Amino acid sequence: MEKTLVILKPSAIERALVGEVVKRIEQKGILIVGMKMMQLDEKILREHYAHLVDRPFFPMLVASMMTTPVIVMCLQGKDVVEVFRAMTGATNGRKALPGTIRGDFSMSGQQNIVHASDSVENAEIEIKRFFRPEEIFEYNARNIRFIYADDEI
Ligand code: UDP
Ligand code: MG
Repeated sequence: MEKTLVILKPSAIERALVGEVVKRIEQKGILIVGMKMMQLDEKILREHYAHLVDRPFFPMLVASMMTTPVIVMCLQGKDVVEVFRAMTGATNGRKALPGTIRGDFSMSGQQNIVHASDSVENAEIEIKRFFRPEEIFEYNARNIRFIYADDEI
């Protein structure tokens, strides 16, 4: 089944929102198949945010992502990339709709609580960037038949 990469950013750690985000993932019926805390460095952030290196806010973004350790998660579910992006909301917390993670917990265009992969292709690349293969667990939720219809699995 499809996988996506999520980062609980320093804004989530410092504001004690880890449980809130994890709760939403669990309640939705999305399976956590990898999860660990790590300290990001400039090398991995330049890779991860390569599409933003020329933007004026890039140095501030990199610095902010290194202020505390982060929690990286690999999530699994049907269409989970699209589903979790929708749960995340627009990049700027002030524009993100209420009901989304950023819409409910962020007032910032930068300190916006979570990163979420934006396509299936990028999710594959990002999962490899942050996890070793043995850190991703292949298992099925016991209640999977109550999360999906038989023809959705
Ligand atoms: N960002 C920022 N200022 C901006 C745009 C983005 O600080 O004007 C930060 C913000 O933390 C965002 C991250 O850079 O989450 C990655 O930007 P992207 O455009 O990929 O947005 P996302 O995919 O996170 O919604
Ligand atoms: Mg992005």
